[in-house]
Amino acid sequence: MAFRRVTLFRFFGYKIRADASWFFIAVLISWTMSSKIYPQALHGQSPHVYQWMGVLTVAGILFSIIMHEVAHAVIAGYYQMRITSITLFIFGGVAEMEGELSHPKGEFMMAIAGPVMSALLGLFFWAAANLYVQYIAADGLSVVLKTLGTLNLEIAVFNLVPAFPLDGGRALRAIIWHTKNNLVTATRIASAGGAVFAYLLLGYSCYNFVVLNDTVAGIWWGILGFLVHASGTSAVQQMETRALLGVEPVTRFMHNNAVTVSPDLSVSDLVENYINRHYQRVFPVVDNGLLVGVVSLSSVLSLDRGKWNWLHVASVMEPLSPTIVIAPEASAADALETMQRHGREMLLVAEKGRLSGVITFRDIASFLTISIKIDHDRPVKRGRIAH
Ligand SMILES: [Zn+2]
Repeated sequence: MAFRRVTLFRFFGYKIRADASWFFIAVLISWTMSSKIYPQALHGQSPHVYQWMGVLTVAGILFSIIMHEVAHAVIAGYYQMRITSITLFIFGGVAEMEGELSHPKGEFMMAIAGPVMSALLGLFFWAAANLYVQYIAADGLSVVLKTLGTLNLEIAVFNLVPAFPLDGGRALRAIIWHTKNNLVTATRIASAGGAVFAYLLLGYSCYNFVVLNDTVAGIWWGILGFLVHASGTSAVQQMETRALLGVEPVTRFMHNNAVTVSPDLSVSDLVENYINRHYQRVFPVVDNGLLVGVVSLSSVLSLDRGKWNWLHVASVMEPLSPTIVIAPEASAADALETMQRHGREMLLVAEKGRLSGVITFRDIASFLTISIKIDHDRPVKRGRIAH
């Protein structure tokens, strides 16, 4: 599900982003509420009122999901796991974590923080709805508040189902991780629970279609089942990749035969004597033995050809940043994650400002393909991911 992600705003210091699918779902929810649910819950209002109720409900759900994810993020931060951003997906959000899980207790606490927040929000909205009805009126707003209360309680319960990758499944995985001391086994077991749950959801979706003749409910349960299944599978793959690569240092895949260039080289020289001669699309830029940046074929091609003669590498190179440089002691899993996160096909391995070599996506990928084929059932060596 690689949809485009848009950054919406910052909240509590976290970048809140939305997957494009969320906008589609927001419209669908708003439409379902204003055309089907609310006209039944509250009779005799104009279509306008129902539309406003639908929009308010979507805003309330957005707020509720963000609070749920912020609760995960705050607890993760408490246990020294860094959350970089929160992305809203079709059925909730995902707090994106940088690096690895620290330990079972942290993972457990982080997992249950979200449903606890949803339960609290549910009680809050429910109480607000009751107070509103008692002191003000039983109108559209009270119905929306009551709906948000119910929805939050449902989100809490749904997420507590012990089916990975739902929060309950993560909590279960943390417990198995703690008892078996193996994160990969724990992920596999918790994901099996997730798969069973996904099939139950799909079955229930069919039941809605065929027996109850309820197409809307059928579609919703079907989407949920499909998503639980898809994200569970990719979580297991990610975990296996980590298990294989987590113990391999970057230096194992590093080449130190990359051709480097100097910052005062002209761009035309770079094209003629380097890009055309060496099978290399990205060149580390080294000045007096120190790594200063990186210059790529694509940045050269984006230049006007007339400028090639008088522009130098220094003015077109990309300066060093953690998105392109990695330390030799980092794991290959970290390197792969950095490449995927920033769309790189290569990283520079450097120590104390000096280039040690380069590591490419292709080398890691072929290692993975071969190792997974050769000894898929090999007991995974304990690395940094299970303590
Ligand atoms: Zn959650």
